Amino acid sequence: MRTPAVLLLVATILASVPASAELPYTVDDGVQLSPRIESLLTRIATEYRRRSGRTLHVTSGTRTPQAQAEAMFDKLRHGQNLLRLYRDEHAANEIVHAFRVERRRGRPAAVHAMAEVIRGQMQRGCFVSRHLSAGAIDIRSRTMNRSQRRIFANIVGAMPDVELLPEGAPPHFHLQLR
Ligand SMILES: [Zn+2]
Repeated sequence: MRTPAVLLLVATILASVPASAELPYTVDDGVQLSPRIESLLTRIATEYRRRSGRTLHVTSGTRTPQAQAEAMFDKLRHGQNLLRLYRDEHAANEIVHAFRVERRRGRPAAVHAMAEVIRGQMQRGCFVSRHLSAGAIDIRSRTMNRSQRRIFANIVGAMPDVELLPEGAPPHFHLQLR
């Protein structure tokens, strides 16, 4: 009667496989994802893998004011026009102003000042980026070829609750919940 022992062994092996091994996507260290974003990402990444054979990589999820300020500092340093990138031009402008005033004191000081502005905005219910409200993720795009980008855009385009924005520096897809 060896069958039950074999079954038990199989059951034990299956139970010991970590859940993360099942994920159809990979994430950068320290990336935080909300449950709603996680389930959305799983749907997108599963379909993307089925159609392209590739794995999506997430570079950013839910951001603290500090992390948002770092991301905006780096975009400004790359010469990007943040007023075009963010819908709330007034909120973006306040942060850009802090950058301009503080940047000569170095990155940590400028990021600190920008994060303070972002915290103040959040206290009055203003979120310059959906990354601050657990409603956005960034997906690496520079490792995708044209056909993979098209597959990705088609999958996301078919989802009414998601919006896709290509962003530069470094190149990535920004996905946000509507
Ligand atoms: Zn983003």
